[in-house]
Amino acid sequence: MVRDIAPRLVGRRLGRARLSHDNVLHGVSRRSLLAGLAGTTVLAMTRRAKNAVIVTDRRRLIIQPGMTGSMLVTERPTDDDLRYGVLRVALDDGRTFIYHDVRRLGTIRWADQAAWERFSAFLGPEPLDPAFTPEALGRALGGSRAAIKKVLMDQRHLAGVGNIYANEALFFAGIDPSKAARRLGPDDHRRLHQHLVRILRAAVDASGSTIRDYRTGTGEPGNFQLKLMVYDREGEPCRRCGTTLAGTHAIDARITVFCHRCQR
Ligand SMILES: [Zn+2]
Repeated sequence: MVRDIAPRLVGRRLGRARLSHDNVLHGVSRRSLLAGLAGTTVLAMTRRAKNAVIVTDRRRLIIQPGMTGSMLVTERPTDDDLRYGVLRVALDDGRTFIYHDVRRLGTIRWADQAAWERFSAFLGPEPLDPAFTPEALGRALGGSRAAIKKVLMDQRHLAGVGNIYANEALFFAGIDPSKAARRLGPDDHRRLHQHLVRILRAAVDASGSTIRDYRTGTGEPGNFQLKLMVYDREGEPCRRCGTTLAGTHAIDARITVFCHRCQR
């Protein structure tokens, strides 16, 4: 999303902003956000964990699109854009930046430097950062007694890994999702690191996953080309060994699907 949007947003001066709902705001009032955005210039757009970070000459607009949010920059907003656009901002080139969120599960922050540093410091390392090694993964998982699946998805330990990718990486690494994180050894860290990075890269290259409502920055549907091995396949045969895949909500209240035989 950031990769698609950044070239259309960086260097633009922001005009009038409109917000349809206040319940997506975190730590900022409607009034401060709308007044703050108007007249700023976008200097850069990056990503941290699952957040798009739009750096302006005043503050950072941090958008966490959640499961259903998406962003686009368009010349002609459609009826849907007007209906579901939570935040709409006029740009000085005549286009409009729109943050869509049908179910409003995402969040919007308007952070000054100190708030940004606190926000970012709270989050774990980035799996796609070149400095992220198997040893760094081992340190990130630390001595947690919690199940590895739960720790992988905890943004304080590791940034940006969602449920699909946690399920898939654990399958490829052959690790039981309920195993305590601290019981993993260097060899587990090496395999898990390899598959996490591979799967996240492939998903980014394919512009996101098959999540419903997902749209790329140009408004196109996501196009996740990876063949899912376990996620969404509970009760179906393992693609590797044929064992019926098991599903549980006991680890972290989200669905975890795994193969008893391949992930011991
Ligand atoms: Zn299997």
